[in-house]
Amino acid sequence: MEDAEEMQSVGLRLRREGAFPVLVPTMGALHAGHLSLIERAKEEGAPVIVSVYVNPLQFGAGEDLAVYPRTGEADRQACEAAGVDIFFAPRDLYAADHSSYVTEEALSAGRCGRSRPGHFRGVATVVVKLLNLTQAATAVFGWKDAQQLSVIRRLVRDLAFPVRIVPVEIQRDRDGLAWSSRNRYLSPEQRERAAAFPRILAEAARRPDGCAWASAELSRVPGCRVDYVEEADGRLCGAIWIDKIRLIDNFPCGA
Ligand code: AMP
Repeated sequence: MEDAEEMQSVGLRLRREGAFPVLVPTMGALHAGHLSLIERAKEEGAPVIVSVYVNPLQFGAGEDLAVYPRTGEADRQACEAAGVDIFFAPRDLYAADHSSYVTEEALSAGRCGRSRPGHFRGVATVVVKLLNLTQAATAVFGWKDAQQLSVIRRLVRDLAFPVRIVPVEIQRDRDGLAWSSRNRYLSPEQRERAAAFPRILAEAARRPDGCAWASAELSRVPGCRVDYVEEADGRLCGAIWIDKIRLIDNFPCGA
């Protein structure tokens, strides 16, 4: 389904029939991390809607919007195979004169919000729009984007959205790297260097001096620049660049 109005009338009909949809919002290029969100969504026993939308509002100038992987047909097939009820892939969600935004003003400020100004305003705006279009009563998010998860939880609480937010733990590939659509940007050689990130962060999450230790260890990885390593929500969270590719990850502290 591509049409936003059609999505909203289907969502409203499902609600009238007492079937409260579960939403899994994504930007596509689906991988095992997304599939674990879908599996969790299915456990709710309600219609599962997966949205695929590369949201221009959450990309800053000079970021990777133009080259972000778009694998629409493969995504649709993966959702069909996973038993998703509605695959919602709108072409565009914003009118040319769109001028309304949702902002969360405390949790959005640090970490990724610092190096990506406007990012969480874009995320909050699209999530609210997707909730309105799908009429979802439950939405599933990954811990992979820990700051995004806390921003969404805060906005749902602050603005009294009748939506339950369900978090899902991070899924990792064999080398420990968290699945991410952006991993496609890594060459095999860059990927080897990137694999040091989860190794170092996992170890740091067990140390009392974790933040400083991880920053020092990461800056020894060739071509690695640390954006931040900070504790938040009981997790040690980090963002780095491997050459020009930005990666984020986190581990529960003390685990
Ligand atoms: P994205 O398509 O990157 O916007 O991600 C869509 C959703 O999938 C977000 O809630 C992410 O946190 C979640 N997600 C992405 N990668 C992973 C992963 N490796 N494990 C668990 N959830 C993930």
